Amino acid sequence: MKTAVVIVAAGRGTRAGGPIAKQWQAVAGRPVALWTLSKFSRFSQVVVVVSAPDLEFASQVFAGHDVQLVQGGADRAASVRAGLEALADTASGAPDLVLIHDVARPCVPDAVIDGVVAALDASPAAAPAIAVTDALWTGADGKVTGTRDRTGLFRAQTPQGFHFAPILAAHRTHPGGAADDVQVARDAGLDVAIVPGSEQNLKITTPEDFARAAKLLEPDMDVRLGNGFDVHAFEPGDHVVLCGVKVPHTAALKGHSDADVGMHAVTDAIYGALAEGDIGRHFPPSDPQWKGADSQIFLRHAVELAAAKGYAISNVDCTLICERPKVGPHAAAMMEKMSDIMGLRVDQVSVKATTSEKLGFTGREEGIAALATATLVKP
Ligand code: MG
Repeated sequence: MKTAVVIVAAGRGTRAGGPIAKQWQAVAGRPVALWTLSKFSRFSQVVVVVSAPDLEFASQVFAGHDVQLVQGGADRAASVRAGLEALADTASGAPDLVLIHDVARPCVPDAVIDGVVAALDASPAAAPAIAVTDALWTGADGKVTGTRDRTGLFRAQTPQGFHFAPILAAHRTHPGGAADDVQVARDAGLDVAIVPGSEQNLKITTPEDFARAAKLLEPDMDVRLGNGFDVHAFEPGDHVVLCGVKVPHTAALKGHSDADVGMHAVTDAIYGALAEGDIGRHFPPSDPQWKGADSQIFLRHAVELAAAKGYAISNVDCTLICERPKVGPHAAAMMEKMSDIMGLRVDQVSVKATTSEKLGFTGREEGIAALATATLVKP
């Protein structure tokens, strides 16, 4: 069975606000019409019906997409008919089935589309709908004037699906004035099956609907955590470099680079969040060019790698473990320096310290250990 799709995008309504019709406005980073098209990507033949003044603009919006643009008519029914006639004219032959969908429903779930297509096995027409559950009132001048029985009432959605030949014939002979294609089908005597709709399948009508649609269309934020741990031993000297700050001490830290144990831990935390190994993988200690290197080079590389992969660093937290030197008096300078290197605000960077209660190698003052955590987010 060959199934084609007609997306009706000929409306010029601006009830949703904005200077251009709602289907061309952006939601979650791209035009509504492209989101809607993406929901039907599994169907090989898609016709989009647009109004004459929108034709040129629409051809830019759909550039690179395999769709046929068709000029719409004076009203919705005329536009749908234009889409159906274009399908009937196709060189490869008319389709067996057609789905007719409102462009302003960009969040339609796959399950709704599947339900419509499946129902066409047994019915010449099928459409999704949701039974009305709210009480129904009539009202005038701001007052309730009556209630209506909601039994048997449904809120209609799209895509509405049809066997192609009968719906084309129904449109060709319809006198006009139909609310939708279901009415056109029923006026021609076709049975229309009701299949489950979805609350997600909202029709963008008001400005608030854009925010609701964006929530449904935007992928969940990608949040990553990484940890880093590093140790450097003491050797004779008169200062250490910790988180980019030179701190006077009775020893130095031994290492291939400047042995900035804190900056190394933070750098490894960022690599870790990216699943990109560690400093040693990107800057092999066997390579003499990194001898005595300023560890900023490593940290900047990790930050750039994160940015290149689309991640923003949300925060880093580093704990230095040593009995001496005292870190507290230098912590503010360390956070300032680290935030500067990473292009972050100072309040996104934490440097703190602890002793190990004179236990272990840090307690015996044989060296300094550091551990760090980094949070990366891809919006
Ligand atoms: Mg190291």
